[in-house]
Amino acid sequence: MTVTASKKDPIAVEAEVREKIHLEILKRTGAYHSNDHVLLPSGHHTSEYIEKTLVTTEPSFTEGLGAVIAKHFAPWPVDVVLSTGPGALILSHCVARAHPSRPIVVYGTKGLISGHRKVTLPVEFQRLIRPETHVLLIEDLVSTGSTLNLLTNLVEQTGAEVVGVGCLWRRTSVDLGGRPVFSLVSRDFPTYSPTDCPLCKKGVPLNEEFVRRRAHRRPSTIKGPKTP
Ligand SMILES: [Zn+2]
Repeated sequence: MTVTASKKDPIAVEAEVREKIHLEILKRTGAYHSNDHVLLPSGHHTSEYIEKTLVTTEPSFTEGLGAVIAKHFAPWPVDVVLSTGPGALILSHCVARAHPSRPIVVYGTKGLISGHRKVTLPVEFQRLIRPETHVLLIEDLVSTGSTLNLLTNLVEQTGAEVVGVGCLWRRTSVDLGGRPVFSLVSRDFPTYSPTDCPLCKKGVPLNEEFVRRRAHRRPSTIKGPKTP
């Protein structure tokens, strides 16, 4: 009899299985597309895409995924869960609800200040993050890490401490500066320039839907009511 048991580390296998389950959950929300041929805003092509606005549309899924993040950070005391953006805020509520420290939920607002992207705290929240406050940052998707940098700066300016970062999805190629990041799915999409895209070479039709949708969302393209 031959033993065909996997030689892989059981902990690594378990993490792999868990990640597959989380990916399947995101697929169920309709947010995750695979085996496609998608045009990205950058002009590059890819076979996978995630629609950020759809990832938190199923309350029971969001609650379940939020509880997994909360369980990971359960050994750390957390006073405040901080996020920015609507999807991340929904998730951060679910994380806070499930964390044993019973942290409060606070959010920053994104905006441009003298041409620079910035996250600011509404005045009412400012007294809630003080020196020595333990802050858990929550993001839905981490694709460039720029929002996390803005949130970290915001926390550090107050003298508070970031205990960690929890997210649903992170691109593995992004350098997060050694922060303790826990993500339910860690994945990178291979992207191709149109000239050496294998999907173009196979003649797979190009899906331009997501780029079109983004263009529609840009405020400059929103038409106001006609003035007489
Ligand atoms: Zn292509």
